[in-house]
Amino acid sequence: MTAPSFETIVNLATKRGFVFRASEIYGGLRSAYDYGPLGVALLRNVKEAWWRSMVQLRDDVVGLDSAIIQSPRVWEASGHVGQFNDPLVECVSCHARHRFDRLEDPDRCPTCGLRDSFTDSRDFNLMFKTHMGPVASDSNLVYLRPETAQGIFTNFENVRRVARLKLPFGIAQLGKSFRNEITPGQFVFRTREFEQMEMEFFTHPDHADGWFQYWVEERHQWYLDLGMDAANIRLRSHAEDELAHYAVATYDVEYRFPWGWDELEGIANRTDFDLRQHSEASGKDLRYFDQAAGERLFPYVIEPAAGATRAAFAFLIDAYHTETVRDAPRTVLRLDYRLAPVKVAVLPLSKKPDLVEVTGRVADALRPHWDIEVDVTQAIGRRYRRQDEIGTPYCVTVDFDTLEDEAVTVRDRDTMAQDRVGIGQLRGYLGERLGAG
Ligand code: ATP
Repeated sequence: MTAPSFETIVNLATKRGFVFRASEIYGGLRSAYDYGPLGVALLRNVKEAWWRSMVQLRDDVVGLDSAIIQSPRVWEASGHVGQFNDPLVECVSCHARHRFDRLEDPDRCPTCGLRDSFTDSRDFNLMFKTHMGPVASDSNLVYLRPETAQGIFTNFENVRRVARLKLPFGIAQLGKSFRNEITPGQFVFRTREFEQMEMEFFTHPDHADGWFQYWVEERHQWYLDLGMDAANIRLRSHAEDELAHYAVATYDVEYRFPWGWDELEGIANRTDFDLRQHSEASGKDLRYFDQAAGERLFPYVIEPAAGATRAAFAFLIDAYHTETVRDAPRTVLRLDYRLAPVKVAVLPLSKKPDLVEVTGRVADALRPHWDIEVDVTQAIGRRYRRQDEIGTPYCVTVDFDTLEDEAVTVRDRDTMAQDRVGIGQLRGYLGERLGAG
């Protein structure tokens, strides 16, 4: 089984409407994407799986949803205004702009091929700027958040107080972030508007190393538990000179994308950098009072920071399989059931009204429990192939015997095995396999 090419995945994602080009009817907007019916379901399932593992199933992590637009002082204190820069070079011949540290050959323009044509590299700040209120002036300049983390730090004391939390504890948030990337690309891998899933875990500084190791392993395992092939995922420690200014240690979870290993998520030990910065800049004491020790201290922070849109893309790539079944090619997305956009397809064998009527009845009974799809068009084989291609775990077929025996045929996506199941038992049968809906 060879890995799918980049084009294969992009074709599937666009053909099946996982992802559309944003503003397509106007010619599109470079590297901006809209998520279609299947894409939004996949993305929601990825976020839901993250929230469940990071918040719902834990007694030491709570959730937050902070504003995208914050006081600009937040971004001054965090270092983003001064330091959230990428090195920008421009080709003097074709005027293409590139991110210098990501060029394969630093002496050659990848757009026109000319050598030694770059201007000196300059710092380019990645934050999107806009103005709050009706008049655009320097005094009402605001930024779209480039990460969700800072809204967690500024709410550290609010959340600790209302949730009555004691160290160690975490605050999790997911949502949109914006970065004016110099070279977005590789489809939805790097875009200027994207979704992040971040958690800041606050701990006594003495325990930070242990929690760092814990979260590195925990986050690696999360991708494996959701079915990612272990051969396609690895951990990579940052070298000293690669670390962000706030971090003393970082591991990246990397995925083997069609173009090579690249980052899915970073887990960083951010020390007490952020809480200290915000305490100093705001004048509010954000230290934590440790009652047992009778001391005030700045907790250390371990941050697992993942991309939701990027993870969804990686799950899509990883799930893609082709095989030959009875001399015919079959494409199947072997997505974990929790991630599959459609859990059950209900298909009448023909468009005969009495079959369509039973199909409607079966679909109505399943709909409150799982995402289902009813498909009445085309030959049954083609409909199975379409469901395989979008990763639907089960197809329920209503045939002429159903009218006699009140039973349906349930086909398993991965094994293609078929079971005959009474309509009355269908919910229980599917619940055992998909998890109760
Ligand atoms: P890079 O160095 O590749 O620009 P980064 O290391 O600065 O990225 P982080 O700040 O650690 O990225 O962001 C955490 C996660 O958010 C990343 O691992 C990635 O999954 C996601 N992410 C960051 N930038 C983008 C983007 N432009 N498009 C999609 N996802 C992104």
